Amino acid sequence: MRLIFMGPPGAGKGTQAKLIAAQKGVPQISTGEILRQAVAAGTPMGMKAREFMESGGLVPDAVVIGIIEDRLKESDAAPGYILDGFPRTLEQARALDEMVLRMGHKLQCAINIEVDEGELVERLLDRARKEGRSDDTEPVIKKRLQTYKEQTEPLIGYYAKAGILKPVVGTGSMAEITDRILAVINRL
Ligand code: ADP
Repeated sequence: MRLIFMGPPGAGKGTQAKLIAAQKGVPQISTGEILRQAVAAGTPMGMKAREFMESGGLVPDAVVIGIIEDRLKESDAAPGYILDGFPRTLEQARALDEMVLRMGHKLQCAINIEVDEGELVERLLDRARKEGRSDDTEPVIKKRLQTYKEQTEPLIGYYAKAGILKPVVGTGSMAEITDRILAVINRL
C-alpha cells in the first residue's frame, strides 16, 4: 500500500493518515513531523528549516526530497507507507515519481481531502488556541493557505492526469471521513 494524503493545511490529513496507517500496518510518513523534530533537536537541518516553517512558507525542495529519500529506504517502509504532507510542490512530486520508479514500486493513489477555505481558517485558529504550535498564528495561517494555493494545489491536476487522484469530502465527523477514505482504499 503506497498512498499520498493531500489537502490544504487544516484538512485533517495528519489525523486521518495516522489512523489509517495504524489500521493498515504501514508507517505514516509526515515531512512536517520530521521537520518539527529536527527543529526541536536543533540539528543543522532543523536550524535551516525553522525560519521557512515559522513564516508559513515551504522548506526548500532539496531538503524535504532528501528526507523522503532516506525515509523510504528504511525497512518499515518496504511493505508500504502513507505520505502525509509530501509532496507539496510539483518538483517534489516529480522527484517522488522517480524515487518510486527506481525502487520498482508504484503509487496507488493520492487521496485529496477537500475542505473549503472558511472552515479551514476556523479549524486552524482553533488548533492554535489548543496546541500552541508556533506556526499557528493568524498571519502565518493566512500565509500557509496562500502557499498551499500557489504551490501545492497544482498537484491536484498532476495526480488527476496520472489517473490516481481520489477526492474525499473532508467535512463531517472524524469517523465519517475515515470511513470515506477507507472505502476508497479498500476498492484499490
Ligand atoms: P499542516 O499539516 O498543518 O499543513 P505540516 O505539519 O504538514 O502542516 O507542515 C508544517 C510545515 O512544515 C509547513 O508549513 C512547511 O513549512 C513545512 N513542510 C512540511 N512538509 C513540507 C514539504 N513537503 N515541503 C516543504 N515544506 C514542508
